This record gives sequence, C-alpha cells and structure tokens, in this order.
Amino acid sequence: MINIMPIKVLDQKVVSQIAAGEVVERPASVVKELVENSLDAEASQITIEVRGSGISLIRVTDNGSGIPSSEVEVAFSRYATSKVSSIDDLESISSLGFRGEALPSIAAVAQIDIVTCCAGESAGEHLSLDNGVVASRASQGRSQGTTITVRNLFRRVPARLKFLKSPATENSHIAHVVSEYALAFPGVKFTLVIDGRSILRTPGSGQLLDSVIEVYGIEAAKNMAEIGSRTSEWQNGKTAPSISITGMISSPTMSRSNRDYLSFFVNRRLIVSRSLAWAVEEAYHGLLMQGKHPLAIINISLPPNEVDVNIHPTKAEVKFRNERAVFGAVQKAVRATLVELAPVPRIEEIATAFNRPPVLSQELWTLSTKPTDLTTSPPVSQQTPVTSLPALRILGHLSSSYIVAEGPDGLYLIDQHAAHERIVYEKIKQQRSLQGIEIQGLLEPVPFEVSPQQDEVLKHSYQELTEFGFSIEPFGDRTYLIRAVPALLDKKDWLGMLRELLDESSGGNKGDWTERIAVSLACHSAVRAGQALNHEEMRELVRQLEQANLPRTCPHGRPTVIHLSSQQLEREFGRS
Ligand code: ADP
Ligand code: MG
Repeated sequence: MINIMPIKVLDQKVVSQIAAGEVVERPASVVKELVENSLDAEASQITIEVRGSGISLIRVTDNGSGIPSSEVEVAFSRYATSKVSSIDDLESISSLGFRGEALPSIAAVAQIDIVTCCAGESAGEHLSLDNGVVASRASQGRSQGTTITVRNLFRRVPARLKFLKSPATENSHIAHVVSEYALAFPGVKFTLVIDGRSILRTPGSGQLLDSVIEVYGIEAAKNMAEIGSRTSEWQNGKTAPSISITGMISSPTMSRSNRDYLSFFVNRRLIVSRSLAWAVEEAYHGLLMQGKHPLAIINISLPPNEVDVNIHPTKAEVKFRNERAVFGAVQKAVRATLVELAPVPRIEEIATAFNRPPVLSQELWTLSTKPTDLTTSPPVSQQTPVTSLPALRILGHLSSSYIVAEGPDGLYLIDQHAAHERIVYEKIKQQRSLQGIEIQGLLEPVPFEVSPQQDEVLKHSYQELTEFGFSIEPFGDRTYLIRAVPALLDKKDWLGMLRELLDESSGGNKGDWTERIAVSLACHSAVRAGQALNHEEMRELVRQLEQANLPRTCPHGRPTVIHLSSQQLEREFGRS
C-alpha cells in the first residue's frame, strides 16, 4: 500500500540537496566544477589535491582572477554567476560555467573553506561554510587567485556515499577529469596530487604534444600525429559559420581496447558524444583490428551560437545546430590526417625485415610536429609520407607469396594475400553500399548445421549475412539450407567462413556485423600465400591495389606493402 502524504512545498534544505545531487554526483564532479571555475578565471596554474578518494579532502588552488571580497559570499548563493547576465548571453556562452550552481551545490553537501584574493585588493578573504551556511569570515593574506577546500563530502548524504565505488575507482575518475582538462588546456600548468602522490604534472608549455606525453606517456605520444588544422564552412541561412578541428590522433599501429582514449572538446569544453566517437572510429575503418579503438584528442572550435551547451545537468553533452556538418568536419579531418601520414612501412635493414613481424611500421610513424625531447629514435621527418601507391613494374614472385616490384623510388614487396584482401574488402563495401553484391546460386541447396551458440549468433547476424549475398533459410532444428552465396566465395570454403564467423563472437551490434562479414569475406576470397600467380595476374593485382583507397594496409590493419627506397638501398650497399 502507498503511504499518501499531503502535498507541500519542500523546505529549502531538501531542495538544495536535491539540486546538488544533479551537479555533484561523485568526488570527480566536484573536481570538474572547481577546475572549470579556475579555467574560467584564466588561471595559468591549477593544483588539485585529493585525500581519501575526495571524501576527506579536495583542494583546488589557482592563480586566476580571484573573487572580489564583496562578492565571495554571494558566489555561494544559488544561480549566482559572473558569467551570464541576460537570456541573450545564454545563446553564445564562451565560459565553461554559466548556471551559478556549482559552488552552492558543493556547499550543500560538504564543508568549504575558500581563500581568494583579486587583483587590486590588499588582502585576501577567507570564508568558511558549513552545510551551506557561512560559519566564519576573516581577511587573510594571499597572492592573487583562489583556493577552495572541500571537506567531508556527502557526510550528510549517506545515500550518496553508499553509491560511491572503491577509492581506486573514484580516484581514477578524478584523474580522468584532470587529464582531460590538461589535454584541452596545454597552456595551463596542472598538478594533481592524490594521497600525497604526484599523479600528473603538465608543463603548461602550450604544446599539446607536451600534455599528451604527460597524460598518455612518451611511447603513446610517439605514435600520435597532429591534425593539421582544418577549417570548413557551411551555409546556415544567411551566415556561413566556420568550424575548425585541431588535435592529435593515434597512428593505426597503436590502439586501445576501449573508447576511454577518445577526448572531445567543443570550444575547449570537455564533452561526451557517442556520435562523435563513432565519427572518429569510422575514419579508422579497416585500419584497426576488430575490438580496437584509436586514441584521439579532438578540439572543435565553432561560433558559440552554433552550439547549445545548456542541455545537460552536468554540462557533459552539447547540441550542435548543424550536427551533420560538425561530424563531417571531424571525420574529414581525421581521415585526411590518416591518409597523409600513414607511411608505407620501410625497412631499415633488408636482412632483418623478412624475419620481423610487420609491426615494424610502429617505430616509423612520422610525427608531424617536431618533438622536443623524443629524439631517441632517428629522425624520420625527411622521409616523405607516401599517400598512395605509385605505378609499379613487376619484377618477380618470391616464395609464391610476395610480389617484387620496382617503383620510382626503389623496391616494393607486396604481400599478395594482404593486398588482395584490401582490394576485395573495398570492392565488397562498395558493392554493398550500392546494394549490388553479386550472388552465386547453388545447384543444390547445402544443409548447414549449427551449435546452439552458433544458432544465437546466426539469428543476430542473419539480416547482414543476407545483405552480403547469403541466402539462408531455416530447415528444422538448428539446421539451415544455404541456397546462394556471395559470388566472390564461389568454389571457396564458404562453409568454413560461416563457421568461423559464427564462432568468433556472440555479441556485437549491426554495425560490427557489417564490418566483420566484409573482413571475413575478403579474407576467405583473397588469394592465399603460397598460391602461384602468373605475370598477368600479378600485374592485375598490383594495378587494383594502386587504385585502392587505402592500399597500404589490409582490413585487419596489417601492412600490404614494404618499401625499400633507393636511398636505403645505397646505404645498405655502403654507397652513400
Ligand atoms: P558558474 O561557474 O556557473 O558561474 P559557480 O557556482 O561555479 O557558477 O561559481 C560562481 C561564481 O564564483 C563564478 O561565476 C565566479 O564569478 C566565481 N568563482 C568561482 N570560482 C572561482 C575561481 N576559482 N576564481 C575566480 N572566480 C571564481
Ligand atoms: Mg562554475
């Protein structure tokens, strides 16, 4: 039975705690709000100190503008802000904060001490608040800037405390927020200290690469390339707003197994966006192994009135006026950077090249920026990245697996299987997008029996398989009849391919299936290593590879071509 209570307006304390719950979900939310305030105050140094996973203490110190002593108290009232004053301001917000909710919300669920001093004032002001109420106030010496200390977070909100995760998890959320802002503001010196340990320290040099080195480490930084600043415009009624994309992305030779390394900033505001993540991953299509994700820092700059930042309680999501234009611009920028920079793997030593796995290209990824203290490996900048394949002349066939060819600049070894996979993969994708997959009917339907697990997977991927040219119909318990297959697989082991595909994984969404089937089809229909090819066939294969969009890697991300330049040949023979 429901216990019905009379309707009454909630008292102020309950109201402020409910409101606080929207903004302050966990210790990392406090860190985020305080750091955003410091950034809005144009601080060049921000130090974040955390104890007891942020419950015991969070202290953020900055050298920003400070708050005039006459305004310190009012800063803790609800909807008190210095950043917005009229409805029109909301149309084009350039600061990170704008609602005047953070300080009162934090004050409602913790004890706060603030010491602040603004330019032109002789002394700073110290204010203590307990449970949102001012407990003491005094002047205190301080250089320009603000220090806010938050203690005993959620002590009066046991329900919130109960929902917090382990200290390690809460700390990692805090580290994540600070890392993200360190990437968004390379000009600001960030220091994060958790339980006395220094976790992050960025130099504030203004160079994104320096922040990337601190946040992701030097090895990762070596494999990141800068997005050449790209500006595009679109027509929006009478105006043509322009959008620019900057940042860094990882080379396809490096990846991560989750999407935590994709950072998006809109006018330097940290946001989460599934669609933007998708746009970036689409650009890596066919360059990364399945289940792998790139690293990317994407800065989107556009006129503030092109984006609504006021749609989410923690301001974590935004709404673009022209979503398609923004996603298109991001995808184009990432794609162009990948195409410009992905080099054909080059061999330093021809003798070892044949014994080494193809990941060789990892060290040879060319950084477009000049790294200052990364110069442990020899500079590779003088090598011009090859965007596509030049016209090649076939010289011969090695181990019935590699095509040996000559180009304008040296020797090319082409892995016939990987190269053919790339060609077929692109062809299938194109045919599918035009709904023109060629189908081969079978003279006799072939029964196909599956395990219960395979049966589950088949049901999920049924539609996609059909779209790729398989005609499959149920035929009793866990048996199907196959009546047609993609023409590419004619006389190939398509039963083996189906089994492998169904065994590979049970999860996945439709997008994954499309990709998986395309990759698997390409793999199973491509010529094998060890298969003899005549000169004509080799020439045709190389000609088609030259025309591929991304001729340098197979759909699994492995190289199709190894290039030995004339210069390297001369060096090898001691002639230079
Ligand atoms: P908002 O950021 O949405 O304006 P907050 O509650 O976060 O709201 O902060 C209220 C006001 O307090 C801000 O508008 C700003 O004027 C002032 N303020 C807060 N933190 C700082 C800081 N670190 N340095 C300077 N001013 C600050
Ligand atoms: Mg704020």
